[in-house]
Amino acid sequence: MIHRFQIGAMRATIVSDGPLLLHAPEKVFLGPGKDMLARPLTDSGQPVDRIRVEQNCLLLETGGKTFLFDNGMGSEKLYGPDSGKLLENLALAGVSPADIDGVVLTHGHSDHCWGTMADDGTPNFPNATLYMSQAELDYWTAGPSGPGMAKSLAGIAKHILPLRDRIRFVRDEEEFAPGVHALATPGHTPGHLAFLFDGGWCLTGDVAFHDPLSYTFPDAESVYDTDREQSVRTRRRLLDRLVADRLSVVGYHHPWPGLGRVEKIYGTYRFVAETG
Ligand SMILES: [Zn+2]
Repeated sequence: MIHRFQIGAMRATIVSDGPLLLHAPEKVFLGPGKDMLARPLTDSGQPVDRIRVEQNCLLLETGGKTFLFDNGMGSEKLYGPDSGKLLENLALAGVSPADIDGVVLTHGHSDHCWGTMADDGTPNFPNATLYMSQAELDYWTAGPSGPGMAKSLAGIAKHILPLRDRIRFVRDEEEFAPGVHALATPGHTPGHLAFLFDGGWCLTGDVAFHDPLSYTFPDAESVYDTDREQSVRTRRRLLDRLVADRLSVVGYHHPWPGLGRVEKIYGTYRFVAETG
């Protein structure tokens, strides 16, 4: 699946890596409880037993270069059989992996960067510079421990560390490509980046990853967050900014193709889908 649209003067395409099937809602979002979580899921036509999310990778052309924002699960099927579609959908968009000048990572979780390397140890995007925050690489190379960490660290070792000399660190608020600005949004991971685009757009990564649950329950901590309290603060700060500045949003895990706007209603939020 691909979806073409425009971010200001830049040509943009959402390229799918396919959907993921996560755990039960109450295992992912802590606090509201099963029945409360079920209501907005049912209202939006989503299953209530397992969380199902998309992986909407953004392809953006600016300054004569082509950037890919996050690259999905690659060949691993940790969350169901339907992921790993990025390369075939890129072909559908008429883009060869060799055409990608920059791969930009929001953070180092499996579903955002495990499409970086092929299984034979060669880069899937042979000409690409890898853009990420130094804080993110530092976090993973410090060897964090905890449940599921061994798998995450193996992923970093396979996909990121071999490309160390191709990494270009991006600083908070830096315009590292024409019209593309990084925004430090720590909490989900310590070095998580969102991106602001000239033309009034924001790519939010996993700051508010689920529509509708991250919007209906902005204070619900997520088991995927490294620092759950900081993640809640960062989410509210970013969502308030999206509302105040009337920014359009590219939502990585939102229902296809993940584009829309955010409204604030009595202290909670609502994502209003648009086609861009
Ligand atoms: Zn994610």
